[in-house]
Amino acid sequence: MLDIYKTRRPTTPIFYPEGVGGPEIYNLETAEGKRLYYGNLYKIEVRQGFQCAICERIAGSRMDFDHEQSRGGGKRDDRIEVDGKWQNAALCRRCNTEKGSKRYHWNSGKYVPNPSRVLAKEVA
Ligand SMILES: [Zn+2]
Repeated sequence: MLDIYKTRRPTTPIFYPEGVGGPEIYNLETAEGKRLYYGNLYKIEVRQGFQCAICERIAGSRMDFDHEQSRGGGKRDDRIEVDGKWQNAALCRRCNTEKGSKRYHWNSGKYVPNPSRVLAKEVA
């Protein structure tokens, strides 16, 4: 649970830590926030063909939301697309558990564990 929830307990479904138009955090303590969050998870599962973004096994709807931006900077953003580019992904439970601090990179909409497989235009 984010500290912000402990201290301020916002009742709005969407929290904008950097202002409207920036990163969005859906408040899971509200019904609407849950709807947005799990709705986005479902949209990610659909766009990935229900395959895990790392191992590509079919994981159906039993995947976990993986926050691309949470690594390093500690910034969470629940949006799944920004400026037309996909962000965040869905991982099977096993990959989500084993991922740890490993970094993954987008390649054609999927994470790839080996940066050498990342197309140059997608690194930029
Ligand atoms: Zn997996």
